[in-house]
Amino acid sequence: MKTQLSLLALMSLTIPALASAADAGRPAATKIDSGRYIVASDVPAEQSQILQKDLAFMYALNFRDDAALSQMMELDGNLNAASLDSWLSDRVQYIISENTDLDSAVAPVTQGYAFENPGVLPPLESIEGAPDISVQNASNTPTAGHGKAVMVMANVGAMIYGMGKEQNTLLGVNVPGAGTVLMSSPRTGVIQIGEGMFAPIFQRKGMSDTSTPLYSLSRLATLFHEARHSDGNGESTGFLHTICPLGHDYEGIAACDLSLNGAYTVGAMFERTITAACDKCSAAEKELAKLETLDSFNRVLKTGYKFDDAADYTYKCNKAAQMAANIGDEAMAFCKWLGQQKLETVTASNWDAAPEGQRLKK
Ligand SMILES: [Zn+2]
Repeated sequence: MKTQLSLLALMSLTIPALASAADAGRPAATKIDSGRYIVASDVPAEQSQILQKDLAFMYALNFRDDAALSQMMELDGNLNAASLDSWLSDRVQYIISENTDLDSAVAPVTQGYAFENPGVLPPLESIEGAPDISVQNASNTPTAGHGKAVMVMANVGAMIYGMGKEQNTLLGVNVPGAGTVLMSSPRTGVIQIGEGMFAPIFQRKGMSDTSTPLYSLSRLATLFHEARHSDGNGESTGFLHTICPLGHDYEGIAACDLSLNGAYTVGAMFERTITAACDKCSAAEKELAKLETLDSFNRVLKTGYKFDDAADYTYKCNKAAQMAANIGDEAMAFCKWLGQQKLETVTASNWDAAPEGQRLKK
């Protein structure tokens, strides 16, 4: 999802509406998983119930040790449902609806807010496009056939945090039924979910029942992927994706990682582990889960360009050259210029996962 949130709109807002007053008489948010997660009141009840069931599904599994996953996630204690849930709830707190209009839900709270690592930001263009894996799933989703983007899930909290930091302004998000949530850190944990999250993405493989274990572990893997976007600091804040290069399955889309411990790796390693623990999964279900895991691992690049703009333009220029397309004099001149630049290539590495800022109590 490309957000509609515009910086200009934000700048022109004055005092945020007091959500508690605005919400008077409206339904409260739903708390699930013993109150660890707060689901906005406009999220359909069935979606909230499915998430609750997915988490219960996780608790019913017998996890085997996976030192690599435990180490990457820096899990407290043994790898089990409780430690995984604890990791998740440190990074995800609020779940908001795809219908949330961020332009009106986000408002400045404190101007001149003292952020950590002042002035050090990941590339903002990619903040807008990055916490978004809808493209991946949209292509698999029957209802998404003709290029219709289907919202799956996005870590909008990380994006809003970055926008606030760019303006030295603490932003608040009005979560229906829960009031104003302060974006003092990506760890505040605000995740937006949409119908794509609950779509029968394995239908073409003969698995259309979204209540089966396969779907639960796939949805959970998406949730753990998004949770990773709440980590990082300075330039690694949000563990942003990069543009996939020419020839990649997702070429031209910000659906790859240059971090070896980023969202695609965490999601894939988590899915591999939870699939191994799924004694109730059929062989066919495990096979499909493995394909999804591989798809995520394939998005972790070995090298790329440091800034998403460079990756994006390089992709577009290579594509134009490949197609021998007439891309116009101006664009051609730009591509020629780009080809002459010494773009900084980077080798994928482990990024610093320590979070920036702190979740504030309301
Ligand atoms: Zn992502």
